[in-house]
Amino acid sequence: AAKAGGKSVYRTCTPALREAAVSRAELIADLRRVVDEGQLHLEYQPIVDLATGEVRSAEALVRWRHPRLGLLSPASFLPLAEETGLILPIDRWVIHEACRAAATWRDRAPEATVAVNIAAAHLRRPDLIATVTAATAGAGLAPRALTLELTESALIDGSDTVLERLRQLRELGIRIAIDDFGTGYSSLSYLHHIPATELKIDRSFVARLGEDARAYATVEMVTRLAGAFDLTVVAEGVETDEQHAAVTAIGCVHGQGWRYGRPTNLADLRAALVPAVRPRG
Ligand code: C2E
Ligand code: MG
Ligand code: MG
Ligand code: MG
Repeated sequence: AAKAGGKSVYRTCTPALREAAVSRAELIADLRRVVDEGQLHLEYQPIVDLATGEVRSAEALVRWRHPRLGLLSPASFLPLAEETGLILPIDRWVIHEACRAAATWRDRAPEATVAVNIAAAHLRRPDLIATVTAATAGAGLAPRALTLELTESALIDGSDTVLERLRQLRELGIRIAIDDFGTGYSSLSYLHHIPATELKIDRSFVARLGEDARAYATVEMVTRLAGAFDLTVVAEGVETDEQHAAVTAIGCVHGQGWRYGRPTNLADLRAALVPAVRPRG
């Protein structure tokens, strides 16, 4: 649904595309040109330290300014992009753009990191290492300032190739987050093998924290488990003060969600990293 008054108004999801009667073939043709035509942009959502409220990092989220359909959310075009392999150039662009963005805030918040989502397909490709190396080096960014977010299903594929690729990334200093944790077919045993640095608890659990004792127990258990594996826990989708209090009490380290800030443009994110000092008088 369109959101009035906010910074962004989205026409979301596939139904909108269906209404607009865009054929699949047309959309694929559009997707093929999306990077070259400069129609993508990123929004940045703050990730805060729950103890201090300070913004510690930001997740880069892609949007498509489609010439006829308007602003499209990732859910409306990423599935097709993944299916057709066109996600690869899109994510490559995202990695480069996010590193350039992080380089612009380094002077103000040298330790702040940027997180990008990457599709499972990248882990099977040998050029991923070259891509992230070129992006960080090109932007003058330390590899430890970049986090790659991967879903459980991408990671659990569990092939030696995937594990080897992840180890190579870790050796470079790149951080690895397990995204939407709890929504896939998590096998606890894979946590032993995946060289991740962060675990993001899916927002579906956070959303039910107040009303569902089992959701609370799940967030508690996952947080404890993550601690044992030395993973930093990020609670996703924190919208209310109550949810904030709950994830803080449980011991999550970081929080992300509307309670702290919606995805926004780079200038606003920079401002959030260091609170603006208002001159008096
Ligand atoms: P994600 O990685 O789990 O990103 C978080 C999503 O939750 C974002 O949706 C964000 O706007 C939304 N969100 C954050 N806080 C709240 C909250 O408090 N309440 C609610 N209801 N929602 C919240 P968005 O931007 O629509 O992205 C959706 C998904 O698309 C992402 O989920 C990610 O899986 C994927 N995605 C986004 N950008 C990229 C990209 O550049 N490449 C790839 N491969 N995937 C991407
Ligand atoms: Mg993510
Ligand atoms: Mg997520
Ligand atoms: Mg999610």
